[in-house]
Amino acid sequence: MNLNTIVDVKRPESFDKVEWGEGHAWLAGGTWLFSEPQVDTHTLVDLERFGWPALTVTEQGLDIAATCKIVELHDFKGPPEWRAVPLFDKCIDAFLMSFKIWNAATVGGNIIMSLPAGAMVSLTAALEGVLTLWPRKGEPRQIPVVDFVTGNHQNVLQPGELLRSIHLPASALRKRFAMRQVSLTHLGRSAALIVATVDDNDDNFLLTISAATPRPVHLRFDKTPSAAELRGAIDERLPADAWFQDVHGSAPYKRHVTHYLAEQVRAELA
Ligand SMILES: Cc1cc2nc3c(=O)[nH]c(=O)nc-3n(C[C@H](O)[C@H](O)[C@H](O)COP(=O)(O)OP(=O)(O)OC[C@H]3O[C@@H](n4cnc5c(N)ncnc54)[C@H](O)[C@@H]3O)c2cc1C
Repeated sequence: MNLNTIVDVKRPESFDKVEWGEGHAWLAGGTWLFSEPQVDTHTLVDLERFGWPALTVTEQGLDIAATCKIVELHDFKGPPEWRAVPLFDKCIDAFLMSFKIWNAATVGGNIIMSLPAGAMVSLTAALEGVLTLWPRKGEPRQIPVVDFVTGNHQNVLQPGELLRSIHLPASALRKRFAMRQVSLTHLGRSAALIVATVDDNDDNFLLTISAATPRPVHLRFDKTPSAAELRGAIDERLPADAWFQDVHGSAPYKRHVTHYLAEQVRAELA
């Protein structure tokens, strides 16, 4: 859509060249920005010319630039010992996307949107991702994805702050994983997206619940839990009012499918 409140689009080459003011918005893929009126925004600051490399493999893990496109993440092939890399495609498949969104949307834009059905939130939370944020003033700061998102379309980003990158630690990428996703309708938004990861020797079992809750939730266990332990932990952590209710599913439905799918991923890894 044409955004008739926009009077300027800036294309800086680096962060320190940006003169930020009220009414400015970072422009990444633009798939959400151009999908609805932005009445409070008059200036877009395009990230494209920052020229950040999309994906960088190091011994410590994978660094994903905020500007990495969904299609670039889809094409990534990691070292063979990173057994969790196939989870990238599984989460990308859960993203309700047209051809345009597939080729234009960025990983960072999806995380900043912080929607319950944000597939890149689910992916990076499940793989214990840590975000690097560049505030307008002051030093860069790091925050785990699971703490960054605070609710439906809510997060801790400050005005003018920029998401620079997402780090997925090698220790998480080496883990075995199991994933399940369900939608009320064919090709609909996720009602629940559940991932479990575990080390060899059955250590460090991590369950990530997303889409069914307003923000991603981690449940950690030293060893793979029993079915009863997992069920109890979910109920203890998520009371009846902790589920995300919308047109894509009622709260009781989301609680029900979370229990059902969590048991499936637990059993698969056990
Ligand atoms: C038909 C349709 C279906 C969609 N389906 C889904 C879905 O299933 N799940 C879902 O989560 N979303 C969905 N979306 C919303 C959106 O397209 C995606 O979230 C997409 O990933 C946003 O990425 P983008 O790069 O296009 O972001 P943009 O549209 O460019 O930006 C989105 C927001 O993030 C800010 N931003 C972008 N990058 C940064 C950065 N690096 N630092 C700080 N702020 C930044 C922008 O200022 C803006 O506020 C859908 C949209 C459409 C139109």
